[in-house]
Amino acid sequence: MEISIRRLSKTYSAEGKTIVALADVDLKIAANQIFTLLGPSGCGKTTLLRCIVGLEMPDAGEIAIGDEVVFSTEKDIYVPPEKRGLGMVFQTYAIWPHMNVFDNVAYPLQTRNERSDEIRRKVERTLHFVQLDGFENRPATKLSGGQQQRVALARALVAEPKVILFDEPLSNLDAKLREETRKELRSFLRELKITAVYVTHDRIEALSLSDTVAVMKSGRIVEVGTPWEIYFDSDRRFVADFIGRANFIEGRVATVGEPYTMIDSTIGAIACEKKSGASPGKAVAVCIRPEFIRVLKGDPGDGRNIFQGRVESLVFVGDAYEGEIRVNETPLIFRIEPTTAVREGEEIALCFDPHHCSILLS
Ligand code: ADP
Ligand code: MG
Repeated sequence: MEISIRRLSKTYSAEGKTIVALADVDLKIAANQIFTLLGPSGCGKTTLLRCIVGLEMPDAGEIAIGDEVVFSTEKDIYVPPEKRGLGMVFQTYAIWPHMNVFDNVAYPLQTRNERSDEIRRKVERTLHFVQLDGFENRPATKLSGGQQQRVALARALVAEPKVILFDEPLSNLDAKLREETRKELRSFLRELKITAVYVTHDRIEALSLSDTVAVMKSGRIVEVGTPWEIYFDSDRRFVADFIGRANFIEGRVATVGEPYTMIDSTIGAIACEKKSGASPGKAVAVCIRPEFIRVLKGDPGDGRNIFQGRVESLVFVGDAYEGEIRVNETPLIFRIEPTTAVREGEEIALCFDPHHCSILLS
């Protein structure tokens, strides 16, 4: 089911100050997609999710789920959470410790007074889906963190919601379990084919789980795109910086042309293949991800974007060498094959493909 949000605003007042949690948010979430709200802590993700669910009352705007308007200040509509037909999984699993797995999952159906054989059928089907068959009688507290999270997912799914919403559901798991549970969740959601809205501040979760990512900052949506577009094609520094490690090289547009736009930068002239709206003279930054910097051995030839630098640091991290190369006075972080023969202190030639250089406008 599609979700459309129009001009949604929400402010809080705390200690005499006004906090703008959501500022005029416009958003369309396509049906049957995994849609992620990504942004730093405090940017308004939870507030937006709670407004969609109906746990928070916005100051102004409109929210529609499918064809039904569930909130509108203009039309004076507020549909309470239990009538919105949504499922939610919270950061803390919020499963009940005094209940076994079956009762935890059955709870939403019991509150709707469904028939007990019907409840049993639905709970068992859902537990099967999240791969917890046979766990019905297990006390909820006797489960691992990952299993508890699957119980929370089952409870959100059992009532067959139109939309499922997640608020940082993996943040309480340790790193390894988080990775496993993320993969599990991904395959569950792909199989379900329902609209899922997923909130996280973790870029790896956002990139790996989502069909679409919306990056938020200070109560606003700053960019919406596929994980690929957000990672490679953003022309906003905030987005490029938040979504991954990157070098930002300050410069000015020299010439705009085909196939390259040339930037005069602190490390010299950089050829960029990607288009931007920048005209000559404009101050910009060129974004290059550390994995796209290559170390050239031997004759550097006369290719484009070749620079001389000094290896300032080099750290072996198992699957790569990571470190810093200084070009003129500009430090660049890089990530290269662990088999590359380079040493700390060495003068080297490096290059990067014009195709991998993004021009950041703001
Ligand atoms: P996120 O989930 O992205 O970390 P939140 O939506 O929780 O951000 O919060 C957005 C902003 O609103 C923050 O500045 C937060 O401190 C503030 N905020 C959230 N809930 C309340 C509340 N109940 N009272 C006052 N301020 C709040
Ligand atoms: Mg939050």
